[in-house]
Amino acid sequence: MTTTERWGGPEAQQRHAVETEEIRASLPPAPPCPDWCTDPNGHPYSGLNAHGQYVRTHTHDISGSHYWVEQAEINQGGVITYGPLLICDESCNVVSPDKVRATAAAMLLTLEKFDEIRAVTR
Ligand SMILES: [Zn+2]
Repeated sequence: MTTTERWGGPEAQQRHAVETEEIRASLPPAPPCPDWCTDPNGHPYSGLNAHGQYVRTHTHDISGSHYWVEQAEINQGGVITYGPLLICDESCNVVSPDKVRATAAAMLLTLEKFDEIRAVTR
């Protein structure tokens, strides 16, 4: 499916762009991000959730790791709360810290075996 098919053609795309701009213009200014967020500091809210709360997601993307850390921020009438700290994979699935540790440990064992075999086969 092309982008044009997904968004329904130029007129639908223009309508979507106008609606998106109207939503962004109605959002409150966002406070500074947590120090660990690698997105532009103070990036805007993405919109309203089903409960009428302004939401945005802070992320820390570790280049080349295929994982990132993220946390939702919710603004309810100026009171800011945060969701749980999550690890996500490249398919945007939430992955447990134990799974990431197990994967890293398995990769390290594989690398050690690779180095051991390479050392004796040169
Ligand atoms: Zn952020």
